[in-house]
Amino acid sequence: MLTTAPRGTRDILPEEAAQWQYVESNIRQCCLLYGYGEIRPPLFEHTELFLRSVGETTDIVEKEMYTFRDRGGRNITLRPEATASTVRAYLEHNLYAGPQPVKMYYLGPMFRYDRPQAGRYRQFSQFGIEAIGTQDPTMDAEVISVALDFYCRLGLTGLEVQLNSIGCPKCRQDYRQALLNYLSQHRGQLCRTCLSRLDRNPLRVLDCKEEGCQAITADAPRMLTYLCSECDEHFKAVQECLQSIEAHYVINPALVRGLDYYTKTVFEIVWPGLGAQAAICGGGRYDGLIEECGGPSTPAVGFAMGLDRVLLAIQKAGAAVPAAKTPLAYVVALSAADNQEAFRILTRLRRADIISDKDYRQTSLRAQLKAADRSRARYAVLVGGIERTQGMVAVRNMTTGEQHEIPLDQLITFLQEGR
Ligand code: ATP
Ligand code: MG
Repeated sequence: MLTTAPRGTRDILPEEAAQWQYVESNIRQCCLLYGYGEIRPPLFEHTELFLRSVGETTDIVEKEMYTFRDRGGRNITLRPEATASTVRAYLEHNLYAGPQPVKMYYLGPMFRYDRPQAGRYRQFSQFGIEAIGTQDPTMDAEVISVALDFYCRLGLTGLEVQLNSIGCPKCRQDYRQALLNYLSQHRGQLCRTCLSRLDRNPLRVLDCKEEGCQAITADAPRMLTYLCSECDEHFKAVQECLQSIEAHYVINPALVRGLDYYTKTVFEIVWPGLGAQAAICGGGRYDGLIEECGGPSTPAVGFAMGLDRVLLAIQKAGAAVPAAKTPLAYVVALSAADNQEAFRILTRLRRADIISDKDYRQTSLRAQLKAADRSRARYAVLVGGIERTQGMVAVRNMTTGEQHEIPLDQLITFLQEGR
């Protein structure tokens, strides 16, 4: 137990972490381009926040939250998603009083007691954006476009954007009744969870992954035919915007999303190569959430993207990730007595921004040169011998084997020019 990480968690070791850093730097670049500033909310919140915003009949609240009482008796939950925190911060810091919309992104770990498998973990990473304070349909399209541009930068292709509208509380009321009538006729075939949610929130059944439930919902009434004129117009406008920027999508009339707070536009982006965990991004509009959390009525739209799945997708697709940087110089001590001087020179190189390293085994010259080779350093800097007494070092080009004696005070310039 002491030597294994808890179920559903894992270590990301340096080689893979380099891929994460590459993905994260693309996220930051994309958000800069699109004008989203970073928000870093806490990793835990009052449990109440998620009960209120995510919704009592969702998978997250019913069975996935890491909730505990802290030593002061507060009810705390490790964040299972970050839209709730972003909205809480928007209200706590009166961001509604400034220019609208407020556009923010977040990046970091989320916690859900999920059933671990490839692409599904108990601690996983999400990148999300939220644009709060506008109902402009171009904003719905912008949010989708941020996700697509990001995948494009990563060289990830073959994605499918699934789009739907789930209307507003007004038009959803009629739909809810129609769906409830339909599902009630098939109670016998629904799973236990769906049965228990049926009367409280029949839309949840559309999101169930059980085969039996999916067979029933395949023929269920569709929200799109119930949209009121305002929701219908909005949905059309979003589609026109997407078409105008050549963002391809398909309409999936069964898409409802797993969180209660959505209104109007909902979407999911799927990379089919990931099998059961193919959804790499989900989002939509949540015009009622800010008011639900005690703020002024404020429209908003955003997405959350599962980065573990994005990483799996680029690995599976073989999309190019830039190679890790190798050292420019590898400092080698000719004898044990030169080890400290080698270390001193190495430190000077690093202080001059030169990626460099040495061997720490206090081993033979041969073994050190082998290590220099393995590190794929461009130069070996040999410290010791007569050169040392003359204030010189020997610099060997590891590809050509060519070697120069250089005064120590010219080493940095030599290496920098050789770059
Ligand atoms: P799923 O249906 O796969 O459980 P979800 O509807 O619960 O997904 P969202 O709450 O919409 O997921 O979260 C947005 C994205 O976060 C998902 O599309 C997915 O890429 C990622 N995600 C969600 N749960 C996990 C998890 N347990 N492990 C890894 N990624 C996850
Ligand atoms: Mg889930």
